[in-house]
Amino acid sequence: MSFLNAEEPSACDLVTDFGIRVLWHPSLGMELGAELQAMLRALVTGEMPLDILVFEGTVIQAPNGTGQWNRFAGRPMKDWVTDLSRVASHVVAVGDCAAWGGIPATAPNPSDSIGLQFLKGAQGGYLGKSYRSGAGLPVINVPGCPAHPDWMTQIIVALATGRGGEISLDDLQRPKTFFSSFTQTGCTRNMHFSYKVSATEFGQRKGCLFYDLGCRGPMTHSPCNRILWNRQSSKTRAGMPCLGCTEPEFPFNDLAPGTVFKTQTLMGVPRSLPTGIDKIGYIKLSTAAKAASPRWAEDDIFVV
Ligand code: SF4
Repeated sequence: MSFLNAEEPSACDLVTDFGIRVLWHPSLGMELGAELQAMLRALVTGEMPLDILVFEGTVIQAPNGTGQWNRFAGRPMKDWVTDLSRVASHVVAVGDCAAWGGIPATAPNPSDSIGLQFLKGAQGGYLGKSYRSGAGLPVINVPGCPAHPDWMTQIIVALATGRGGEISLDDLQRPKTFFSSFTQTGCTRNMHFSYKVSATEFGQRKGCLFYDLGCRGPMTHSPCNRILWNRQSSKTRAGMPCLGCTEPEFPFNDLAPGTVFKTQTLMGVPRSLPTGIDKIGYIKLSTAAKAASPRWAEDDIFVV
């Protein structure tokens, strides 16, 4: 559903401007039942070429490694993943579940869920560490819960136009162009972060969400405040803490009661600190910042 909201380029642009033929999609696919099975078999046998396999959702292996808990087109979905990934020129994992297992893979992981080439932060996953697609690339991870639609369409266009080799990936196989900066980069609350002025409730238009409401913007790699959602806004701009959903450890603290939307602290210091800052540095910085905080930082500066 996120994919269908893409704007730059849109899902329609993929077809009309870039000549991509969308073989199947849960909402757009025309083939059903026997027709779909026939098309999938044609792809597996090589009768029909498969340039890009975009997989969304975790690979379910339960019960007992059979994958029978998640059947698709007449057989376990995991078996289609095995066969289609063998013939695909490129494989893209869209969303946290496909990238690293996501919420279903959270302990105790009853569905034995796993990502395509990772399980949480550990490389390997369902296809194994050494998996390479027909074009010689590992799985390209476009995480997020959901992934931003334009991250998907821009990567698909790059692959479809033969620029797959130019996509530089980080250690977690995420395209660096999207995942080198932090969610905090471009957040409208950065001044409040700097002066340690805290928001105390969701939707408040002043204050930073890091100090009390558990925002993970300073330690999460995503362009959510550079490539805006619906080209309009972002969670943090709207007053909703970043949950760190583009990182393999998401959901953090295994969703233990009292850990969501609440900054976890130890003797007043957040347990998770902004990337690159140590505890002593944080204490010095935040003490000075609070002392230097100007009076306007407490005002609603977005009122016009
Ligand atoms: S709300 Fe979150 S992303 Fe924005 S400045 Fe505060 S910590 Fe950073």
